[in-house]
Amino acid sequence: MSFERKKILVLGAGYAGLQAVSKLQKSLGHQDADITLINKNEYHYEATWLHETAAGTIDWEDGVYPISKVVDASKVKFIPAEVTAIHKDEKRVETNQGDFDYDILVTALGFESETFGIDGMAEHAHSIVSPQTALAARHEIEKNFANYRNSGADKDISILVGGAGFTGVEFLGELVESVPVLCEKYGIDYSKVKITCVEAAPSMLPMFPEDLTDYAVKYLEDRGAKFMIGTPIVAANEDGFVVKIDDKEQQLEASSVIWTAGVRGSSLMEESFDGVKRGRIIVKPDLTIEGHEDIYAIGDVSAVMNGEGDDARPYPTTAQIAMQAGEHVAKNIELTLKGDKKEPFKYDDKGTVCSLGSKDGIGIVMGREIKGKKAAFMKRVIDTRAVFKIGGPMLAYSKGKFL
Ligand code: NAD
Repeated sequence: MSFERKKILVLGAGYAGLQAVSKLQKSLGHQDADITLINKNEYHYEATWLHETAAGTIDWEDGVYPISKVVDASKVKFIPAEVTAIHKDEKRVETNQGDFDYDILVTALGFESETFGIDGMAEHAHSIVSPQTALAARHEIEKNFANYRNSGADKDISILVGGAGFTGVEFLGELVESVPVLCEKYGIDYSKVKITCVEAAPSMLPMFPEDLTDYAVKYLEDRGAKFMIGTPIVAANEDGFVVKIDDKEQQLEASSVIWTAGVRGSSLMEESFDGVKRGRIIVKPDLTIEGHEDIYAIGDVSAVMNGEGDDARPYPTTAQIAMQAGEHVAKNIELTLKGDKKEPFKYDDKGTVCSLGSKDGIGIVMGREIKGKKAAFMKRVIDTRAVFKIGGPMLAYSKGKFL
């Protein structure tokens, strides 16, 4: 089989981009294509494990591995560089290490924190969007607990979590495990600690039935977390969050303030393409961008629609859909190089698990509700599978969660 040799440029080595490269290097030979992967860091990080780094239940290195462990250097050129502009009309990408041209572009630039313009949020709250920000959040919590011995201020052992989405709830699950350990380390009575999660919507985790959400809330409340549901955060300042209750503003005090209420796709998307909302661009069924047969968008910079017409909605951005899209793009590129038609992407939703620390969780897997130890086990399977799918058995052996 002979292909026309093309320049394929993949931007981003998150779940979507790295999965695409991992698949491309298996399906294409050196003579078939010139594949280049550009990523800001020399490592890939497991974005879905960041809440564990932030709470201190895993070390940051546990969720990180060098991209060189995945990339076959005989087939793929890996360039550690930061993308600064995409010039689609010239088929050229600008980086801080020079320019790269392409025949086929895969943009998989990932996510960043979204504060929705809330006053003071970017300055006063920590986010959990990279190993660095997760580590900063963890250090902040520990610094404040250590400080409590001198200050005796309740504020120093109060933690505010903004948003009870997946990230917020999974983070709380880790906190109720790690904070008692911190208390022991610094001689603090855990019953004095306040861990409060503030959520604007009248309910949380709408993708789960009420009995599972109730289970999660009870599990977390039994271990010391408190929820303020239907309470929008309207500002952040050096004392904590300002929330709105019955149309009146109220200050919630905490020294450790973590914003888990929003992510968006890379802002480079708005700068480079038309019709981008919160860093996400609607993709066609074959995962290319309207009007650009040679540009694919996958992962958190893309909006994959669940149908056609006015009722169509984008699927939530998850690691699961990002990896499936990465695989599909590799397949479509191979088809294109062979002169065949691209195929439409079909998302196979295998379910979702929301962990509650290392020992518990809730989820829907293959259409069945699960909770407790079974859900925690499933979560470890999902996390290990993600490493295996991208990096193979050796990487899964060293990075997987087997315990
Ligand atoms: P999210 O958007 O899903 O949740 C954010 C939460 O914050 C929402 O409940 C929202 O109502 C709340 N919120 C927003 N503004 C607020 C305000 N001003 N005050 C108080 N509350 C406010 O964000 P996320 O949890 O970071 O998840 C992002 C995406 O990643 C989602 O698609 C999610 O499904 C996915 N994800 C999946 C997993 C998993 O599968 N285990 C884990 C993490 C994230």
